Amino acid sequence: MYFRYSYLLKLKLSYPITYIKGISVQRATLLYSELGIKTCNDLLNFFPFRYIDKTTFYSIKELQPNSSEVQIVGKITSVKSVAQKRGTRLVAKFQDATGTMELVWFRGQKWIKDSLKINQPYVVFGKLNHYNGSFSMPHPEMELVTEYKKKLQTKMQPVYPSTEKLTNSGVSNKLVRTYIQNLLQQFYDKIQETLSNEIIEDFKFISKRDALLNAHFPKSQENLAKAQNRLKFEELFFIQLQLLRRKLINKTKIKGFVFQNVGANFNDFYSNRLPFDLTNAQKRVLKEIRKDVASGAHMNRLLQGDVGSGKTIVALLAMLLAIDNGFQATIMAPTEILATQHYLAIFELLETMDLNIDLLTGSVKTKKRKEIHQNLEDGTLDILIGTHALLEDKVQFKNLGIAIIDEQHRFGVAQRSKLWKKNTIVPHILVMTATPIPRTLAMSVYGDLDISIIDELPPGRKEVKTVHRFDSNRLSVFKFMKDEIKKGRQVYIVYPLIQESEVMDYKDLMDGYESVSREFPTPKYQISIVHGQMKPADKEYEMQRFVKGETQIMVATTVIEVGVNVPNASVMIIESSERFGLSQLHQLRGRVGRGADQSYCILLSSFKLSAEAKTRLKTMVETSDGFKIAEVDLKLRGPGNLMGTQQSGILNLKIADVVKDTKILVDARNTAISLLQEDSNLSKSQNDLINKAYLELSKTSKIWSNIS
Ligand code: ADP
Ligand code: MG
Repeated sequence: MYFRYSYLLKLKLSYPITYIKGISVQRATLLYSELGIKTCNDLLNFFPFRYIDKTTFYSIKELQPNSSEVQIVGKITSVKSVAQKRGTRLVAKFQDATGTMELVWFRGQKWIKDSLKINQPYVVFGKLNHYNGSFSMPHPEMELVTEYKKKLQTKMQPVYPSTEKLTNSGVSNKLVRTYIQNLLQQFYDKIQETLSNEIIEDFKFISKRDALLNAHFPKSQENLAKAQNRLKFEELFFIQLQLLRRKLINKTKIKGFVFQNVGANFNDFYSNRLPFDLTNAQKRVLKEIRKDVASGAHMNRLLQGDVGSGKTIVALLAMLLAIDNGFQATIMAPTEILATQHYLAIFELLETMDLNIDLLTGSVKTKKRKEIHQNLEDGTLDILIGTHALLEDKVQFKNLGIAIIDEQHRFGVAQRSKLWKKNTIVPHILVMTATPIPRTLAMSVYGDLDISIIDELPPGRKEVKTVHRFDSNRLSVFKFMKDEIKKGRQVYIVYPLIQESEVMDYKDLMDGYESVSREFPTPKYQISIVHGQMKPADKEYEMQRFVKGETQIMVATTVIEVGVNVPNASVMIIESSERFGLSQLHQLRGRVGRGADQSYCILLSSFKLSAEAKTRLKTMVETSDGFKIAEVDLKLRGPGNLMGTQQSGILNLKIADVVKDTKILVDARNTAISLLQEDSNLSKSQNDLINKAYLELSKTSKIWSNIS
């Protein structure tokens, strides 16, 4: 007895779940392998995904076609058997003061029919069906009101996520509920507060203990809302705290190179060689960058700007700043095509200046590669542009001052930091993305970066006219193409290429190419074709023919998504557009509308469209604002599928939802900001609890090490 008592005293939430009454080693192993639940704390933070609500009574008039499980009080007025395709079903007319509905049984009809009492008040509970304007409830749970009143009422019942294997091994929802009940009984006293009094008072939060208790076993909807609100805040708050602290530490501890001079190259280029006036947005961003790199702190900045907003020139000017201060600069792009395009564009812009630029991609031959390595190490090269090839160990800069990463979402965080590590002092980092990330998401994913936004397109751009057409209208689309080609324009036709159905997709592409070739015969028309299975040299050749205007039509898979810049191309036709994601459609559309002419985007699809596909196509037709499109995308797909979020902690959120809980996220972030302003080390006594929880989290949670 004595022994047992002392062991109880020492219980800790960090203990394995076998310490919870009723959980065997076997079960614990299963819970770990299926759900990743290892410690008592894990289980405590394993939240229900829904609740069976028996706290509310609905009247029949209140029922909505989307209400799922409801509880109603009423009387049965009649019962009959109704013949159906196979056998019969039992139907009871059920009514309350506000209306009538049906209760329906398919099994055990005789027994049920005998036990039903006519004209006596029942409490019924179950899932609703809605058909032809009326409601029915199959196989309801039911009880006479007289019986119901005698019992202690169960409240809202939690339903936990599960897996097939768990269910098959007898770990039912009921069992999990029991485990958590036991857990709360044994450990309730061990649950520590994690927020300061000040925050709790400011937001009128309930205590951590009550929040956890009510998140699992809420007494009412209202209590549940309070519990979830507090737990969501807390989850987002600690992530923000982590991100912001890291940023703070980077700012103060990591030394950055100081680009003090705005020197000869920058000034010469800015005053004499800029091919156009910068937009105000470009100027603003440039100022933000200049301020960063002159400050002595390390720049870690995300530059967001829609397709065609002119990020490249900003990157180039930033690189000139580095060069003027005696440093080298680099741009890393996700594809060979894009890297080459950057190289050509920048080479041309700097042609008359005395600077050394080179290109390093996977297809650069060994001899040339060695030469590049050499020139890089001895400092001959000022700017190196390339792909992943830049990350190889052999690539050593003499003194890399700034690294620019284009199309950020294609590189993982690990790669980002690999580029960083190429120097003893970390170079300034500018990450550029054309996939606008909604602000809230950016806050949670890239909370450690500073964010600049180019929210203005260069002048004279006309909005791309976008329409949706069904496959059956293909002939009129061909006709339209001919008209545009007659005016001297060029046309893209893009086919989906999705890994899982690669073989079929290539077949579609080839079939499409054939039918286009028949419709647009040589010698009047010339067609380029580019896809991922071609050799890089062949791809390049076909691409160049299109760039030079030797071909009028480019048939391609999504390889042209990024990078291709042909201002004369004014029509983008997307085949099977219902299969593309929103951000991809947006990127593709960005390939046209680069010149002075009115451009068009035609989204072709089959008749059969899912609701989601309809929304995507509708969104594309209605707007060309990348941020709006990103918001819709986020709502449709959730953050897990947004590019760039894979490595971030945002996926592992246990209770908060970055799409739905925007307001809480903003509160959490602002609270974290003002907290750090007052107490950057969390060393003040009123923040003890926060500090303790913070340290605990950074020790145990995998999420945390992933944020970088
Ligand atoms: P993105 O942001 O998609 O990388 P780019 O930097 O490739 O965009 O710019 C798209 C096109 O717009 C390029 O042809 C570029 O020369 C042109 N451009 C960029 N800034 C301006 C500007 N301020 N005025 C006119 N044209 C511009
Ligand atoms: Mg670009």
